Amino acid sequence: SNDYRVVVFGAGGVGKSSLVLRFVKGTFRESYIPTIEDTYRQVISCNKNICTLQITDTTGSHQFPAMQRLSISKGHAFILVYSCTSRQSLEELRPIWEVIRETKGGANELASIPIMLVGNKCDETENREVSAAEGEAEAKMWGCHFMETSAKTNHNVKELFAELLNLEKNR
Ligand code: GDP
Ligand code: MG
Repeated sequence: SNDYRVVVFGAGGVGKSSLVLRFVKGTFRESYIPTIEDTYRQVISCNKNICTLQITDTTGSHQFPAMQRLSISKGHAFILVYSCTSRQSLEELRPIWEVIRETKGGANELASIPIMLVGNKCDETENREVSAAEGEAEAKMWGCHFMETSAKTNHNVKELFAELLNLEKNR
């Protein structure tokens, strides 16, 4: 089908919704509004075809396990977001990554699924708890790609989604 489904996971407050809204609507807000679960659709061109990019912004760590497995089984690509200002938020991603690994089958299959580990809020240099090198090392261990972003300053946001689509094309 011409549907490309991206699922965004990560702890509450790391900036999942902000990244998605920055990409889809070009906006940013300072206030924190907890998300239930939202899906955004965008028509894009890929491989000279028209396809629908569907981005699911999840609630975070408190998502029901059954919902989590359903989102994972339907997803083509995953964005795992932590905040550079919180080591805890990086640690909270590991169980989600493990469920993705279990749900998506063997190592070969997993290697072909675009997964991006994203350190958001890289603009908050004074409050940084996780260095880029640490994020990159973690991504290497998980066998996934890595990027630092800021939804606030719009750093690497377009690039994040472009890179995911690129990984999909090349697999
Ligand atoms: P979510 O729970 O993961 O969806 O997080 P939100 O997108 O709702 O963002 C939580 C809070 O972090 C909000 O107050 C945002 O304004 C703020 N925030 C999100 N992204 C960034 C960022 O890149 N830099 C900074 N400084 N703040 C951010
Ligand atoms: Mg949210």
